[in-house]
Amino acid sequence: MGVDAEWLRAHVRELADHPEPGVSFKDITPLLASTEAFAAMVDAVAAPYASMEIDKVIGIEARGFVLAAPVAYSLGAGFVPVRKPGKLPWHVESEAYTLEYGAGELEIHRDAVGEGEKVLIIDDVLATGGTAAATLRLAQRLGGDVIGLGFLIELTLLEGRSQLDGSAIHSVVRY
Ligand code: AMP
Repeated sequence: MGVDAEWLRAHVRELADHPEPGVSFKDITPLLASTEAFAAMVDAVAAPYASMEIDKVIGIEARGFVLAAPVAYSLGAGFVPVRKPGKLPWHVESEAYTLEYGAGELEIHRDAVGEGEKVLIIDDVLATGGTAAATLRLAQRLGGDVIGLGFLIELTLLEGRSQLDGSAIHSVVRY
């Protein structure tokens, strides 16, 4: 991990046993509130995909939106939201998923990704990988060519990468 990653890590607040015992919650709000750290985060998450001609960047509700939208702008791509059930107003595809402290379902608009479009999936934290894997399935179901998955933070002990085989997975700060 380079100097920038260590400097970014210093802006992440760790909360023990939140939202339940055993979980070390990574609160990125101090990082987002810093002019310099926010810009450095967007640059670091986008950098590995700069030459990959990404068409659509998918952000996962809710913290994923905060990263994915500026990354999409930086890469010259469109932004697509993946949301919790009932939030998107038009026709959706749905996928069930499990995460470090719960389970749920994610939805995407059916026309959000075109056949063969190059897709990048972005979220703040890669934990068990369930959320990202569900989003990967949604993008592929719409015909998207998922080029990669990018995260600010990766909780390596949870081995989320093992659920995401075959894609260019990058994270900036690892725990
Ligand atoms: P998972 O599906 O287990 O990879 O969980 C990833 C999702 O849950 C991401 O959208 C994160 O925002 C959130 N998440 C999981 N674990 C944590 C954590 N320890 N700190 C902050 N967010 C987390």
